[in-house]
Amino acid sequence: MAQWVEVSLRVDGEAAEALAYELQRWCHQGVAVEYADLPQDKLDEDQVPPPEMLIVRGYFAHDDRTPATQQAINQAIGYMNMLYPMPQPVYHIVDDEDWGEAWKKHYHPVRIGRRILIRPAWIDLQPQPEDVVIALDPGMAFGTGTHPTTQLCLEALEDLMQPGLDVIDLGCGSGILAIAAAKMQAAKVVAVDIDPLAVKITGENAAANGVAALIQAHTGSLETLITSARRFDLALVNILARTIIAMCAEHLGDLVRPGGRAIFSGIIHDQADDVEAALRRTGLLPVARRQQGDWVLIEARRPPAE
Ligand code: SAH
Repeated sequence: MAQWVEVSLRVDGEAAEALAYELQRWCHQGVAVEYADLPQDKLDEDQVPPPEMLIVRGYFAHDDRTPATQQAINQAIGYMNMLYPMPQPVYHIVDDEDWGEAWKKHYHPVRIGRRILIRPAWIDLQPQPEDVVIALDPGMAFGTGTHPTTQLCLEALEDLMQPGLDVIDLGCGSGILAIAAAKMQAAKVVAVDIDPLAVKITGENAAANGVAALIQAHTGSLETLITSARRFDLALVNILARTIIAMCAEHLGDLVRPGGRAIFSGIIHDQADDVEAALRRTGLLPVARRQQGDWVLIEARRPPAE
């Protein structure tokens, strides 16, 4: 059975933010910060937490890279410790089965962009009338809206989306981007992932959000899409720089209709130039970048047909 490593540190409010930011580089689905001793609903909203009362917690896959990841995290925290006192990280191994549940405890509503509100499926909220609300039960798939790469995509999507577009979500994870596009009146969304579990969860999340009829989720990748004749007005690709670059050599740009647009995320700042060069080689024109911390999103368009 697959396992996860939980990493947690108990710190004060000042350290928590920097630490959460740092840990996001390794942790699947982002990092949660919670009050250490009191349940959150017992605290007044404006109560400032006393020192040493926050726990920063994240999860990464337990595999043959675990020792290297732990070493990298320890080293990063060691560097931080030179500037501000940091405790030793505590590591626990968690079974895959328990992890989905473990995560739930630390997953809270997130507001992104101007009107997107990600709501954990088990929490009730009162949205504003214009809000685009996405209820998510992330299960074991990536995409809870807490990760900077996902947030950058949602912000870009909010700006680029228009009613009636055909959208492709390549590497759909939990389906968060596909659902956001569907709720912003896409004509249809194709959601694809190499991980069958992600495809299953995308289907479930689409149904829970009332947009199942608009989203076709299936297992696959670029090859399956390129060999079908389907082309899209907007491509959402939040994978990783090296995967995007490899896909560019396999005609990634052809997925986008002439005059269409695409966003690419999962790119560390240093890799952005290489990704842009690869995009140009596949016929796409990088037009803008967005950045959150070290993460960059690249917006591109395909020139209109002559
Ligand atoms: N779109 C979601 C999830 C991004 S995580 C979000 O923005 O939050 C990246 C997803 O891409 C994972 O679910 C992973 O399984 C999938 N993936 C990785 N490599 C892929 C490939 N070559 N083809 C298709 N999907 C891939």
